[in-house]
Amino acid sequence: MQRSTKIVATLGPASSETGVLTRMIEAGVDVVRLNFSHGTHDDHRKRVELVRDCVRRVGRTVGIMVDLQGPKIRVGKFAEGKVELANGSAFILDAACKLGDAARVGLDYPELVGDVEPGAVLLLDDGRIVLDVESIRGREIHCRVRVGGTLSNNKGINRQGGGLSAPALTDKDKGDIRLAAEFNADYVAVSFPKSGADIRQARELLAAAGSDALIIAKIERTEAIAALEEILDASDAIMVARGDLAVEVGDAAVPALQKRMIRVAREHNKVAITATQMMESMISSPVPTRAEVSDVANAVLDGTDAVMLSAETAAGKYPVETIEAMARICVEAEKSEEITLDSHFLDRVFTRIDQSIAMAALFTAYHLKVKAIAALTQSGSTALWMSRINCGVPIYALTPEIRSRYRMSLYRDVFPLMMRYIGHDREEALREAEEELIRAGAVQPGDTIVLTIGEPVGTPGGTNTMKIVRVGEHSYSAGRSSL
Ligand code: PGA
Ligand code: MN
Repeated sequence: MQRSTKIVATLGPASSETGVLTRMIEAGVDVVRLNFSHGTHDDHRKRVELVRDCVRRVGRTVGIMVDLQGPKIRVGKFAEGKVELANGSAFILDAACKLGDAARVGLDYPELVGDVEPGAVLLLDDGRIVLDVESIRGREIHCRVRVGGTLSNNKGINRQGGGLSAPALTDKDKGDIRLAAEFNADYVAVSFPKSGADIRQARELLAAAGSDALIIAKIERTEAIAALEEILDASDAIMVARGDLAVEVGDAAVPALQKRMIRVAREHNKVAITATQMMESMISSPVPTRAEVSDVANAVLDGTDAVMLSAETAAGKYPVETIEAMARICVEAEKSEEITLDSHFLDRVFTRIDQSIAMAALFTAYHLKVKAIAALTQSGSTALWMSRINCGVPIYALTPEIRSRYRMSLYRDVFPLMMRYIGHDREEALREAEEELIRAGAVQPGDTIVLTIGEPVGTPGGTNTMKIVRVGEHSYSAGRSSL
């Protein structure tokens, strides 16, 4: 069953073995996410090799995403691994503390002391534990436990309402960017960006390391919501990072933000990923909850390009079943969608020739109800533009560029296909495109398709031509209508 919405799966101990990873890819993973909050460079290198090996064998296009840790502030370790914090008790955050106990714990970010004041609220372990800051004494932050519970090693800390000064790219991230470049990651996700400048800095560092990876801005800080437009302009994609975002802005604000972020991303010709806890119960259960099914389906209806799995596939008991369930939910939700080109299609402003052809193809495909759109593309940008508005017609992006194929693994409604022909003969290029579409099961002889291509064929320069073709019935000589 063809699925338009893409699936991102985080790799971890539960998905590091060839058999499991192969089955996950067969079940429908489109992009694998390497979470750089965990593991050494060597672990990541090995994992990338494993992924490439499995992908080659399965024969699917699967992109690789590096997710930088960013300035995630965490408590240190406890002598006993964890403590029980009672409501109302005193608790100290102290960067100098080596091994914590029920009275105090260390911090991996000494600057936190300068970012909080009495009255500030700190949320630990995704908000499960709530601390009120009472006073700052030297380098110690003295808190009162408002909501207690078990606190274990290295749990995250957020400040309610945002306002932490930590820069988006840490020294660790800078080293990790070099590794991402070394193994040619397709996507790099920047954690906790506050501005477009944070994303531009990441892009400069990537370029200096020799990488042109697409950049995903994780929207997970209060400040990032206000700066959404400039962050979108600077990045290629955003992630609705609901885990940290919910802690910073309050969980109830997230669903509406998710809808707005996805819509605005698509209007800016950018890609959107919806992340965190989508199938959380499947970490330990072979079936999702009704609420999770609805969550995934609603993200699809919101127009997300991709839905993401974190612990479900990294550390869960049912990584393959989770992908299967998610794929099934996406397909069903896509079927239920009512597709109309609404008026905002007409509000789009574009001046580029290639973008104009992309929009014309979309409009034509929608009204003629053709079987497929075929975009012969170098960079994949034609396919990206076409896919920002859902016209109900799948977009097959044919390219000889391996790099472009992998980039498109995240674009909703886009199915990257391999084009071998790289010469100048237009007839030859069109013939191969048709053959490839038939081979992929996308069309049959007699189907009508909308095709876009850059002419003259085989020379650099953008898409400038749209054709309406009946598969298998044409001669490609100029001036003959195929309809
Ligand atoms: P994380 O990001 O899993 O790296 O924290 C996603 C989120 O915060 O939702
Ligand atoms: Mn996060």
